[in-house]
Amino acid sequence: MIITLKKNADKKQVECLLGWLRDHKVTPHVSAGESETIIGCVGDVARLDIGLVQALSVVETVQRIQEPYKEANRKFHPEDSVVDCGGPKVGGGNFQVIAGPCSVESEEQVVAIAKAVKAAGASMLRGGAFKPRTSPYSFQGLGKRGLEILLTAKRETGLPIVTELMRIEHLELFNDVDVIQIGARNMQNFDLLKEVGAHSKKPVLLKRGMSATLQELLMSAEYVMASGNPNVILCERGIRTYETATRNTIDLTVVPVLHRLTHLPVIVDPSHATGVARLVEPCAMGAVAMGADGLIIEVHNDPPHALCDGAQSQTPEMFAETMRRVAALRPLAYVQHD
Ligand code: PEP
Ligand code: MN
Repeated sequence: MIITLKKNADKKQVECLLGWLRDHKVTPHVSAGESETIIGCVGDVARLDIGLVQALSVVETVQRIQEPYKEANRKFHPEDSVVDCGGPKVGGGNFQVIAGPCSVESEEQVVAIAKAVKAAGASMLRGGAFKPRTSPYSFQGLGKRGLEILLTAKRETGLPIVTELMRIEHLELFNDVDVIQIGARNMQNFDLLKEVGAHSKKPVLLKRGMSATLQELLMSAEYVMASGNPNVILCERGIRTYETATRNTIDLTVVPVLHRLTHLPVIVDPSHATGVARLVEPCAMGAVAMGADGLIIEVHNDPPHALCDGAQSQTPEMFAETMRRVAALRPLAYVQHD
């Protein structure tokens, strides 16, 4: 339910309304925008007497929300959310590029890649320490040591780090991590989402499951938000279709669609979406043109010898060229309008 307040509504009466809502087991979220102030209500709203709320002198309109996602809903929070990733901000016109290897392999590798992607304009470093691999016989990541290496690269370059969390028990190791990635395979690991939401306020980069609808993606974001962490960034990383020419099928439609449905930032991962390094640049440009709030791109100094996802990894030179083209395109990016 959304309550829109009258302009210049009496503060004391608004406080009274908020107290009354809480007494009725409803959590009010006040969103004071430039043109109007709204109160998004989550909880037992079905039992509220809408007529009673509507009759209050401070209330302009009352509207029920049909969608099952509430906190993630644009109606609930009309302004774009801006997520602070330890310095760089994503959303609401702030665009960031996250780059780095699929997996952390060695200190030398990560530090060299971090320096190269920073020089090309990336503002955050990615790298997997705990890897969700399809085969148990594939490299599973360096684990705790991988996190230490990422922190060394952060110290040396100043780049905030983004890395995947697969088990809640590992959260205590993530103290100096800037953005917690929840991978496509865990998008519907509801216990993990609840725990992350309840125990961390760090930004959560939530990747779309490979066969998840947008409503399912938004419901997963809702799990994190409803548990107490509003700092969610959504990521399109390609979905599974009948097409086999690419690893996944990039679904760029989601960028403007999600921007209408939600206030959360939306970024695109053209690396996992295509699986092919030379397709990363055109897809990155497509994502930028569609209005994405950022990109996450895999970069490796020696792709043929990468321990994970070499075929889709750009070299630092390719990445630098992509960054030049992305920068040139950015002023033309689509911005949502009515
Ligand atoms: C990754 O970012 O390395 C990764 C495993 O991505 P996804 O969860 O999208 O497959
Ligand atoms: Mn990868």
